[in-house]
Amino acid sequence: MSEMTGKSESIDWHNLPQGDELFRFSFEDGRVRGVSLRLEPTWQAAIENHDYPASVASLLGQAVAGAVLMVASLKFQGRLVMQFAGGGPISLLVVQVTSDRRFRCMAKWDDDRLAVAGDHLEDQLGRGQLVLTIEPDEGARYQSLVPIAGAGLENAIEGYFQQSEQLPTRLVLSATGDVTAGMLVQQMPETGGIMPSRGAAASGFEHVGKLMDTLLGEQGRQEMRTVSAPELLHRLFHQEALRIQDVARVSFNCGCTREGVGQMLASLGRQELEETLDSEETSELIEIRCDFCGSLYRFDRVDVEQLLTSDSVAPAESTRH
Ligand SMILES: [Zn+2]
Repeated sequence: MSEMTGKSESIDWHNLPQGDELFRFSFEDGRVRGVSLRLEPTWQAAIENHDYPASVASLLGQAVAGAVLMVASLKFQGRLVMQFAGGGPISLLVVQVTSDRRFRCMAKWDDDRLAVAGDHLEDQLGRGQLVLTIEPDEGARYQSLVPIAGAGLENAIEGYFQQSEQLPTRLVLSATGDVTAGMLVQQMPETGGIMPSRGAAASGFEHVGKLMDTLLGEQGRQEMRTVSAPELLHRLFHQEALRIQDVARVSFNCGCTREGVGQMLASLGRQELEETLDSEETSELIEIRCDFCGSLYRFDRVDVEQLLTSDSVAPAESTRH
């Protein structure tokens, strides 16, 4: 079999964008679809205002890759929120990705406990559940709880697809503070009678799973981070005729604003804000740092007075006569 057949011949793998890459692809025979992701400049920008230890950056990067792969595989308009809160040294992980692939993320951790924690996911996160919430622009939220104990992030996401979409899915994630990468492959849903029989589809997918297994070791994961996404696809599936569905952009976008932070402060009320300004530690300044992007918002006594005054005027009364 030639390396590339069918429509994939028309794609020049080496002229595709480098650095940040997201490809949706499928096998020509309709058995399998997948998403390949690698983020370098965008991932670095997302965490540059944080001092994440290597193990936190790695885990958060994997969570970002996993969440972006999910959004790229699911059909919905809205937002996906992936959250883990356990009792481990890394006490909180949050990733939010919109359906147009804008993401933000954050983690909280304890340096002392992390320094003596083991390498296993449970050592770092503790026991708990990964909470996956789909928040569609219209319609009801869908929430799924997946225990992380003994499984890990990859298996937890695979479990989500099995549970909620009944689609066999394989996923491998790999991240450092410099680059995050992931590959997701999924058995195609059987629609319109054009699919091979269920048994044939399953055995075909088993073979794909074996190819994905080659990424699981440390060498494979390193390859995911260092090799460009099209190159990785080529190495894994060069015996298959592949079709690239689309190439999409992923961006880091926090969405926090001074106005939004001000509204949050105003909701605390005059007494609490004045007490904060009066306390010795704050030196007449309220400082709020965004947990996601690290932006710092400062409010002095005059700013606070403005917040409280504008909040006390009902918009309807001030604009209608
Ligand atoms: Zn922010």
